Amino acid sequence: MIIPAYVARNARKYPSQEAVIDGNLRVSWQQLDQHVNLFAGILSQQHGVKAGDRVCLVLPNNYAFIVAHFAIQRLGAIVAPINVKLTASELVYIFEDAESSLVITCDMTSSQALKACAELKLAHLVVNDMPAFTDANHHALEFERLPEQAIYEPATLLYTSGTTGRPKGVLFDHKALLFVGMMFATEMHYGPRSRLLSLMPFTHSAPLNLSLVGGTLVGSTHVIAPTFTPDLLLNLVQKEQTTHFFGAPVAYLLTAQHPDIAHADFSSMTHWIYGGGPLAGDHARRVQQAFRSDQFYCVYGLTEAGPTGSLLLPEEHATKAGSVGQRAAAFTEIRVVNIDGDIAEINEPGEIHIGGEGVMREYWRNPKATAEIFTEDGWIRTGDIGIRDADGFYWVKDRIKDLIISGGVNVYPREVEDALASHPAVLEAAVIGVPHEEWGETVKACVVLREPLEESELRHHVAERLADYKRPRVYAFMDELPHNANGKVLKHQLR
Ligand code: ATP
Repeated sequence: MIIPAYVARNARKYPSQEAVIDGNLRVSWQQLDQHVNLFAGILSQQHGVKAGDRVCLVLPNNYAFIVAHFAIQRLGAIVAPINVKLTASELVYIFEDAESSLVITCDMTSSQALKACAELKLAHLVVNDMPAFTDANHHALEFERLPEQAIYEPATLLYTSGTTGRPKGVLFDHKALLFVGMMFATEMHYGPRSRLLSLMPFTHSAPLNLSLVGGTLVGSTHVIAPTFTPDLLLNLVQKEQTTHFFGAPVAYLLTAQHPDIAHADFSSMTHWIYGGGPLAGDHARRVQQAFRSDQFYCVYGLTEAGPTGSLLLPEEHATKAGSVGQRAAAFTEIRVVNIDGDIAEINEPGEIHIGGEGVMREYWRNPKATAEIFTEDGWIRTGDIGIRDADGFYWVKDRIKDLIISGGVNVYPREVEDALASHPAVLEAAVIGVPHEEWGETVKACVVLREPLEESELRHHVAERLADYKRPRVYAFMDELPHNANGKVLKHQLR
């Protein structure tokens, strides 16, 4: 079965149950299935979209995104959801790289997309109100249905957000999406009564494949909104009685500071899920206190792996917060491989590899990068340095690319960030290497404070926790750090 077939299945199994809640719009599985069929017909008949074509979506998390996503896949075409914050020139690069045949956008996010389309003379479609749009075209129903073996056909093209360079297209087939979605539905106990709150952009693999695809496989309700704000998180959890939320660590840290959090009713929530980075230092404890819950799950992975990877469970946070858990998620394996290519010993650093059916098929039209990332036995080289401790827990020390080599010695920025973040006045910290004549590189800390703090006090705090060679030599106090749309710090901008 291919992914959009589950929308049709849910329409048969749970016709009147809510599929999507987007502001005032409440749509059942039966209605969603109808809209997906109609929109697939429109794309096929009026815009010539056919199997294998790439269609780029420049849409926020809204109902049009969900309908378009499934409709494009239903045609056997490839859906490419693109970050709505990109500039026209960044979009031109991606539209060209994907060789997109059509761009779908809406008034809220169209300004840069339309400029890029004009430059490339690329066809576009602006959809603001999907139910009205499809109803007005109700005659456009015919399109060719995909055969069963389409499970090995490409389904989704995701551009990695580019925290380490130019975005690359990561191509998934339906089979990979099925495994990633089933993995998360199994691990997070999704079911038809689950209500998944998605405020992180569907242009990233975790919100898209873990929430939208995973929840759809089992008929969960999607509660969505176009952007994340702490206000929305607090309001929607309570108003819609959601059960699961996935957010970047920074989303939790910001919400933990909200003045209303102490009175919020979170009783419907069974799973608070974070990933994309650790809740460093004692941030996990602070967030648990603010949310008055210990039901926190940490997910580790990367776009290329689906994302599948490993999980840190709620009961493991007390002793192992900061690690990424002791076991790979369902259908997934993880290992640390040392410089000689052997499985690393306990506490020996090496590169983390992820294997399983949920990993990407290839980098879009980039066989060289594809060959580099896959091991001979088909696992993904994550580019992360990690260790496995004596209790079997994995720790991501850092990305190989972010490692600082100062005076010939390795400094892991995340370890320094943890030390900085453990000071109660620090909201967020990022550590980078900056050129140094004598040592090659030296350590610089970029810090956002939640309350006033003298630099000398922070230096003293760090000195109590870290060896001299790891301590930042330079401090920059900033109002905020540059983040990508998924809440990840853009270190190349800081550099
Ligand atoms: P790009 O790949 O272009 O740099 P990106 O950083 O946004 O963009 P992702 O695939 O979202 O790409 O990031 C994956 C990386 O994030 C992992 O390789 C790892 O370094 C880090 N990461 C993800 N989850 C966790 C986690 N739970 N704890 C620690 N680090 C994590």
